[in-house]
Amino acid sequence: MTDRRRLPYGADAPPQKLLIGGRWVPAAGGATFTVENPATCEPITRVADAGTTDALDALDAAASAQSQWAATSPGHRSRVLRRTHDLLLERRADFAELITLEMGKSLAEARAEVDYAAGYLRWFAEESVRIDGTWKVSEDATARVLVMRQPVGPCLLITPWNAPLAMPARKIAPAVAAGCTMVLKPAPQTPLTSIALATVLIEAGLPAGVLNLLPTTAPAAVSESLMKDPRLRKISFTGSTAVGRLLLAQASENVLRTSMELGGNAPFIVCADADVEAAVDGAITAKLRNIGEACIAANRFLVHADIAQEFTERLVDRMRGLTLGSGTEPGTDLGPLIDRTQRDRVAQLVAETIADGALLHTGGSTPDLPGYFYPPTVLTDVPDGARITREEIFGPVAAIRTFRSDDEALTMANATEFGLVAYLYTRDLGRALRMSEQIESGMVGLNRGYVSDPGAPFGGIKHSGGGREGGNSGIEEYLEQKYIAIDTS
Ligand code: NAD
Repeated sequence: MTDRRRLPYGADAPPQKLLIGGRWVPAAGGATFTVENPATCEPITRVADAGTTDALDALDAAASAQSQWAATSPGHRSRVLRRTHDLLLERRADFAELITLEMGKSLAEARAEVDYAAGYLRWFAEESVRIDGTWKVSEDATARVLVMRQPVGPCLLITPWNAPLAMPARKIAPAVAAGCTMVLKPAPQTPLTSIALATVLIEAGLPAGVLNLLPTTAPAAVSESLMKDPRLRKISFTGSTAVGRLLLAQASENVLRTSMELGGNAPFIVCADADVEAAVDGAITAKLRNIGEACIAANRFLVHADIAQEFTERLVDRMRGLTLGSGTEPGTDLGPLIDRTQRDRVAQLVAETIADGALLHTGGSTPDLPGYFYPPTVLTDVPDGARITREEIFGPVAAIRTFRSDDEALTMANATEFGLVAYLYTRDLGRALRMSEQIESGMVGLNRGYVSDPGAPFGGIKHSGGGREGGNSGIEEYLEQKYIAIDTS
């Protein structure tokens, strides 16, 4: 085991427990599972493994706490979120360490994730006090139309492993702001950061039962038992499109409100008039942030044929200069992938693309290191329709194809069932706006390799999901409208 006394938030005292009704408890069946450090393949600690009994206990707690929590003042909920924000920033180093240990990204990236997550807590602290309604005179003046906002009710929040703090924070913050109670089911690879976040929320004044936490290795059984229960009113899910589809079908049974942040297959378009150096900078960010394990990672590089060689050479140059290593080591640019399955998937995808005729410029082979490392890799001449252009790579691999006209670039960009984000590099304002309008995605990075901001509506279209996290509309996902017709005749 990793040096236990060193780990923040008691992650040194296995087994870590479930949070139900304000108490940290073992799983009813006594089961636990191991959390592994992907940089060393060594166990970090053991965590209680929730089953369906625990799930229903957690929903009991969330349902019991709902009406009292909904009746709290927006100012009170705002202060809880603001205090959590302050505590996260005070303890940035502890949170970053936990994120790096269980997920693998470098400490610098983990610190950036803490700031990003805290941004959502601050944003929704500010939104909580702005929940409002409307008042109008009915068309025939015989009534007044009052529209008020109320919390949706108990929510199930399911999060992935790639941003162990930010993904839960992006859901918990608007739910708290709106007055909803919650059951959070984190990814089994990264439960420790969620446990630490729950600890801080409690310290900041979140009452018992408002947030319940269920790490589990049986996500389907746990979520199904919750979704069958009529007391649950909403599911907010971030993860793969395959699982999202399954949950949408299950959600239809009790007609649950749903927010789905699903997979992506982002095109990264570089037009002939682009600033190539800036495009390469953007490509490094869009491709390698989070070791490529991001739903908003650039997945398909589409580069104008006239500048493709220059772009490729510069990108290869930059990628060759990066250091692979444990996220805790100073000087590490790229940590390991999350687990063996993911690393082998990426390696297989690259091997298959090369076998299909693509050219390898750098990377492409699994290094002889103990963790799940894969090097930054650049492929060109990627054949049309190759699997690497259809599936999320979720690794540090840039697959480049070329185009000759804007229309061709748009056709290639839109030839996917996904529609989360697209990146576009051009110096021509008219082209930038025209192409941004025609790209089928919820977000566009225009001359910028990164999108996402607490004040912006994050989310996708097509098979990338529905609903938005953040921005002015983010809180709406957790609010209902109630219309009261008042007779004045
Ligand atoms: P995943 O779908 O396998 O798992 C996501 C979560 O769902 C985990 O907590 C997992 O335990 C749970 N889960 C798995 N099967 C389930 C089931 N049958 N019922 C209920 N829950 C279940 O995805 P992942 O591999 O953890 O994450 C990667 C995926 O997440 C990628 O597709 C990525 O694009 C997507 N993602 C999307 C966004 C976004 O905002 N759009 C953000 C981050 C990640």
